[in-house]
This record gives sequence, structure tokens and C-alpha cells, in this order.
Amino acid sequence: MGITIAIDGPSGSGKSTVSREVARRNKLAYLDTGAMYRAATWWVQEQGVDLQDEVAVVETVKLLPLIVPIDPDDQTHICNGEDISAIIRSPELSAVVSIVSSYFPVRDILIEMQRNIIQSELTLDSFSSGRGIVTEGRDITTVVNPDADVRVLLIASEEARLRRRATELSGKADEETLNKTRDIVSGRDRIDSAVTKFMTASDGVVTIDSSDMTIEEVVAAVEERMERVQ
Ligand code: C5P
Repeated sequence: MGITIAIDGPSGSGKSTVSREVARRNKLAYLDTGAMYRAATWWVQEQGVDLQDEVAVVETVKLLPLIVPIDPDDQTHICNGEDISAIIRSPELSAVVSIVSSYFPVRDILIEMQRNIIQSELTLDSFSSGRGIVTEGRDITTVVNPDADVRVLLIASEEARLRRRATELSGKADEETLNKTRDIVSGRDRIDSAVTKFMTASDGVVTIDSSDMTIEEVVAAVEERMERVQ
């Protein structure tokens, strides 16, 4: 029987890097649910729909023509035949994704897609040959897959998260870049946390504080949890 691993956390907690690495090392599939919300936002804008118009947004997301990648080594996102991998990471898109993800009918659509992907990775003819999947996001441990074998909330101090995000976005973490990043990151987390609960762990979810840990150490901590359930 395959293993399911759920990792939630705020932006800059290191969950993408850690999740992808855990998947790679253990030959598991990898599902980045944040990228799905980003792709849905791109698609809605591409269709000329007003992001404030919830009904129109929901109708448009129902038709989302996204090929969801589950290979940790190839996260090319194709939507409507277009490679949107880079554009869904742009600051412009990051600034509006929380509008789309705050609509519960949108979440229902994407959550169903996510659950189907998780289920299919437990079958032999899947990408992971049934070994399982690492899924990361904001509501995986609580809503999407609360029965996951390993459930982790990855947190980090605000300072550590800002430093990582600033380095990721601008290649540096000086005072000016940190201040600019603070507005973007903290603002998004504040809006998101009104919709999903990812700042405190639910029952049965292990909290790992990555502030003073290397990626290697966090990966090892997750793998140690995996060994306990296998
Ligand atoms: O993880 P990432 O920063 O790429 O997520 C982008 C956005 O997608 C988040 O800011 C949040 O609004 C939304 N999201 C969500 N639920 C998830 C994953 C992401 O609402 N499970």
C-alpha cells in the first residue's frame, strides 16, 4: 500500500523545496496545490473574467484545462496548451491569487481534483507505481487529505520566511528588499489564513519549525515520520 504525505504551511516555510525533495528521494509523486490555485487564477484572467465576480470565476474554473504535473523533477504547468510555469510565479499573479482561492466553490472544484490525483497515485499504473504521493498546500492536513499517513505543518519565524522569499524573488535579502517582501508575503498570508487554517496545527499534525534548520534536516525529520508509519 502506498504512502500519503501531507505538508501544509505559510509561504516561505520551505514546504515546496522539502516536499519535492522528499518525493524525489522516495520515488513518490508530488502535488503542489498552490500551483493549481495559481493556474486557476491565470486561466480566469486569461478568459477576461473579473476576479471580483465570484459566480463567473466559479463557472470559468469548472472548465480549467490544466494538466497537473506530479513529477517532482518536472513541474511544467500546461494550461490550455500554454506553458504557464513561469507566469504563475509572477508578483502580479501572486498579488491576486488569494481572491480566487477565497471562493469556496472554487476550492471545492480544486479539492476534488486533488483528491482524485492522490487516490490515483495509490494504484499500480500511476506515476509512482502505487508508492504514493507528497501533497503540499494550506489545507491538505485538514481538508484535502486529513487521513494522510504523515501530516506535517511546516512553520518558520516571520524573519526566516521573509529572508527566504526575498532571496528567492530578488536574489538578495538586504533591508530594502526585506521591507518590500514583507508587505507582499505577510499580506497574502493574512488574507489566506482567513480561509484556511495553516498557522496552527490540528490534532495529529506534527509541527516542524524550520527557522533554524537546513533543508536536509527538515527532509530527514519528514522521512523519520515516514519510517514510523511504514
Ligand atoms: O503555496 P503558494 O504560495 O504557491 O500558494 C498560492 C496561493 O494559493 C496561496 O496564497 C493561497 O491563496 C492558495 N492556496 C490555497 N490552498 C492551498 C494551496 C494554496 O488556498 N492548499
